[in-house]
Amino acid sequence: MFKPDREQGFAKAALDLMGECAVISTPKNFELFYAFAAGENPALTQVMGAVIAAKKPFTPELIQDMRMRCLSGARAALAMEAVGSNMSAMIDDVLAKLETAGRGTVDYKNTLSAVTGELGADRSPADLRKLVDGLIAATREMEQRTKSLEGELQASSAQVNELRDKLDNVRKESLTDPLTNIANRKAFDDAVRCAEEAVLRDGEESTLLLCDIDFFKKFNDTWGHQTGDQVLRLVASCLSENTKGRDTAARYGGEEFAVLLRGTGLEAATHLADQIRQTVETKKLVKKSTGDVLGTITISIGVAQFAPGEPGEAVIRRADACLYGAKHNGRNLVINQNDSGMAALETSAA
Ligand code: GH3
Ligand code: MG
Ligand code: MG
Repeated sequence: MFKPDREQGFAKAALDLMGECAVISTPKNFELFYAFAAGENPALTQVMGAVIAAKKPFTPELIQDMRMRCLSGARAALAMEAVGSNMSAMIDDVLAKLETAGRGTVDYKNTLSAVTGELGADRSPADLRKLVDGLIAATREMEQRTKSLEGELQASSAQVNELRDKLDNVRKESLTDPLTNIANRKAFDDAVRCAEEAVLRDGEESTLLLCDIDFFKKFNDTWGHQTGDQVLRLVASCLSENTKGRDTAARYGGEEFAVLLRGTGLEAATHLADQIRQTVETKKLVKKSTGDVLGTITISIGVAQFAPGEPGEAVIRRADACLYGAKHNGRNLVINQNDSGMAALETSAA
């Protein structure tokens, strides 16, 4: 849920820890320490926790290594850089080939013009023969050049295709949550921008669900983070199972998920939210490694509909207030913005 105080607390804890560990406060270092302070990245908690416990110095190399291992955004940025520099080397190469080819064409044109000029003069058969031989040689050379350029351009185009596929993969990766394999926060924010526009421009109905796992901290404490991660994957698959087409199901943050339902009004969205809630509730959890039966988990959901011209952030805040209402009223519940008490909650949450 949206808790600015909590986020400021993480920021302060991150800066304090950077001070204690003698790490300079660059944006990249802060990103890593903030993620650690938020405690929502189990891999980072483990790796960085061990470094702190062992009082190892945070060298730039160690920080870079942790960023690459634990922060998916940093990995995607590096991959994007690699593809980008390959792409520009490739384009330089193709341009150089085309330039050479251009020069070759000019030479050929000059030869032809020269021959045309000389043809007008009074020539002996032997001279004519020489001219024609020269012409044939120039044409063959041009043919040869064109052929090898064609081959080189074909090879370049295969490389460009390969790079384009890599770029597509990097793009997909940068929009996907690596743990659950559904859309990440960035993809969700992009989808919200599109919905905002469609609601305003076409009067389309769109609705947003915010889902939060109930008592998840306790679950992690009882069964461990890795089993907790398995639950996150399960909830994500329940969301995917119940959404389709233009809907976007995303991991919004740690154990919170968001679903954007395009072309869907409040009533239908609330019905779907309840279907999702029931799907999660009825899954029987079994620990993969041991076969232990872990019981069931439940989720609470807040539902809010976009009003024309309303910014996505405001709809998210309203859905969050409804989610808070669902938690407040006993959890394993769906509450929408028209349910009783929501107007009051919204005002107090704003
Ligand atoms: P509530 O019903 O009020 O939502 O209670 P809660 O315990 O779910 O809420 P709280 O916000 O106190 O705790 C959320 C927990 O989610 C804390 C953290 O350990 C866990 N969590 C967040 N991200 C991850 C993750 O990526 N993996 C795992 N395993 N746990 C996570
Ligand atoms: Mg939460
Ligand atoms: Mg929770």
